[in-house]
Amino acid sequence: NKINVAIDGPAGAGKSTIARLVSNELGYVYIDTGAMYRAVTLTAMNNGILPDQENDIVELTRGLDIELIPEENGQKVIVNGKDVTQSIRSNEINQQVSKFAGVSKLRKLLVMKQQQLASSKGVVMDGRDIATHVIPNAEVKIFLTASVEERASRRYKEMLEKSPSIAISLEQLQKDISLRDQMDLERKASPLKMAEDAIKVDSTNMTILEVVQTIKELCIK
Ligand code: C5P
Repeated sequence: NKINVAIDGPAGAGKSTIARLVSNELGYVYIDTGAMYRAVTLTAMNNGILPDQENDIVELTRGLDIELIPEENGQKVIVNGKDVTQSIRSNEINQQVSKFAGVSKLRKLLVMKQQQLASSKGVVMDGRDIATHVIPNAEVKIFLTASVEERASRRYKEMLEKSPSIAISLEQLQKDISLRDQMDLERKASPLKMAEDAIKVDSTNMTILEVVQTIKELCIK
């Protein structure tokens, strides 16, 4: 019998990597809810819409078709037919996304979408409010975390591998991550919070394989 798996945690804790691997192992569908907030942020910014223009953001989002297409090493993100996989991961989007994610009317729309996607079970979903808000009846709830230094240094290595002509320092990266955590923790609408019945996994001193194994065991119990 298929179950649903919720993985929440702060920025850069490795949620998407882990969620993707766990979903592959279980033959489940991976849903990256952060990609949805990023897609809205990118489109809003391209249209000159600011985070305080709530009604414009809602209208824009209603007209968006966001597709998450699984690929071998990640997922493709398509918005209204356009591939935005790379552009939603820019430093600019990193700095703005939590401001847009604080708009409660937008959250309502995206949460509805996410709940529909999870309605047939067999889903691994990652985000900030998945266990507390989106699918509180998920059978397995994980709160994945790591020290901010470790999270920043992992992201830095990832960026170096992708684009050696790096435009941002480790120090700046750590600042950006801390700021994003703070906004996610302090917002009024479903802030980042560990669900009471979630299991905390601190990956600071764990390998990816160890984390995947730990979560997989919880899922097949
Ligand atoms: O997971 P990722 O870092 O891609 O998410 C980007 C941002 O989207 C987060 O920093 C957070 O502000 C927002 N987000 C959210 N709720 C979710 C997933 C992401 O508010 N379920």
